[in-house]
Amino acid sequence: MRDAAAAFVRDVVRPSVAGWDEAGSYPRGAVAASGLTGLFCPPELGGAGLGYPAGMEVFEELGRGDAALAFSLSMHNAVAAVVAGCDDDPLRARWAADLVAGRALGGFSLTEPHAGSDATAITTRAREEGGGWRVTGRKAWVSLAGEADLFLAVCKTADEPGHSDIAVMAIDRRAEGVSFPRLYRKAAAAFLPIGEMVLADALATMLVPPGAGMRAALGAIDVARCDIAAIACGLHAEALDIALRYTREREAFGAPLLALDTMRFALADVLTDLEAGRLLYARAASRLGTPAGPVAVAHAKRFCPDAALRAAIACSEALGAYGWLNDTPLPRFLSLAKMLQVVDGTAEIQRLVIGRELDRMATAED
Ligand SMILES: Cc1cc2nc3c(=O)[nH]c(=O)nc-3n(C[C@H](O)[C@H](O)[C@H](O)COP(=O)(O)OP(=O)(O)OC[C@H]3O[C@@H](n4cnc5c(N)ncnc54)[C@H](O)[C@@H]3O)c2cc1C
Repeated sequence: MRDAAAAFVRDVVRPSVAGWDEAGSYPRGAVAASGLTGLFCPPELGGAGLGYPAGMEVFEELGRGDAALAFSLSMHNAVAAVVAGCDDDPLRARWAADLVAGRALGGFSLTEPHAGSDATAITTRAREEGGGWRVTGRKAWVSLAGEADLFLAVCKTADEPGHSDIAVMAIDRRAEGVSFPRLYRKAAAAFLPIGEMVLADALATMLVPPGAGMRAALGAIDVARCDIAAIACGLHAEALDIALRYTREREAFGAPLLALDTMRFALADVLTDLEAGRLLYARAASRLGTPAGPVAVAHAKRFCPDAALRAAIACSEALGAYGWLNDTPLPRFLSLAKMLQVVDGTAEIQRLVIGRELDRMATAED
């Protein structure tokens, strides 16, 4: 699957991404044809049946092409895996095969205009009516807004404080009461629609019941954070390759730039960060789903996007003025590395998770 991802990046993403951006349209057909839409789903359903470590290697390859497209595939694959593994037979029968094949796209919706990092502050409300569920609220930062076919939305089911009443609802984009009134104008990735989703008494299916909703959402977000760390390493590795190609050829003061100690020192740090990031995401991937998973993921998500941004800056500088031209993806990578820092939880939120580990360690000392 890693080779398939590398081929997809080489043959489809790199030659097409500028065109997708210009057209401002999400490449549904290319994504469906990639064979990368059911990475964590069982082979009986047409999925690749990958474990997390192998899946993360796929995301690193995708990060070499375009981190925003890779992020959308991370979200879609999380939704596909949840739906393929859920106990709701009609929901699974309706959606699983289509999601795995990429005929349908999945979206995940937790954030609201007033509630990002503080996810328990959400107010979107699901209520039972006539044996079914209806959802009312406004979601923000909905990736694949208007494009994904099935959204998993995290909702409150009562007015309890905290997360005891939080559930996950499955909502068909075409259901009555679902609208996407606002798409954001972003610094990059014009092809990826992100915006608000308004739910006005929208018909929904309960996927994860109240009480278990926040835990389930956080489990999915941990996988997504690990994906993002791997994607960041892909962006990082690609930036370094571009800088190496350039500094090997370009001469200054009678020698290739790469022969200058100062250049070597800058790129040496980029390589050390890349090695560290790869170790962190691989270790986190092997711990996903265990009690050690969240903190291992937090270390990787805290480190890798920051390191990718440092790499994008250093590698862009290595090209001098040419680093600022769209002849290479480096200007786009700078913006995408910023995106990776925020998406699926900022570095501060990872530090909160790591801080709880510090408490545990300090108590264990007693
Ligand atoms: C490209 C992109 C796509 C996205 N797609 C989706 C999606 O599909 N679905 C979805 O649900 N969400 C999505 N998001 C939203 C994303 O998960 C949130 O933006 C993120 O969780 C941060 O929330 P916020 O932007 O509201 O920032 P805030 O929570 O308002 O934070 C603002 C700043 O305060 C800091 N901060 C917050 N709390 C603390 C604290 N306790 N201690 C220290 N500092 C703190 C943050 O680190 C940040 O720097 C997406 C975001 C981006 C950028």
